[in-house]
Amino acid sequence: MPIYEYHCNKCDKDFEELVLGSNPVVTCPECKSQDVAKKMSTCAFKAGANFVGTGKKASAGCGSCSSTNCSTCGG
Ligand SMILES: [Zn+2]
Repeated sequence: MPIYEYHCNKCDKDFEELVLGSNPVVTCPECKSQDVAKKMSTCAFKAGANFVGTGKKASAGCGSCSSTNCSTCGG
């Protein structure tokens, strides 16, 4: 599932949004602003960093997820 993290530039809220389509309109759930910045998925980012750091594919999930299969973040 393509879930991305967003950061609202208006109220500084971080939130996750399930993104369907290539150019979705994402609205902050807190202040309804569309002035949001997409962040790389935390899970994908950490997995990628781990991949680079250890030279082997990460398989133990990611630090930000409580689960190990990353089913909630698509990683
Ligand atoms: Zn906001």
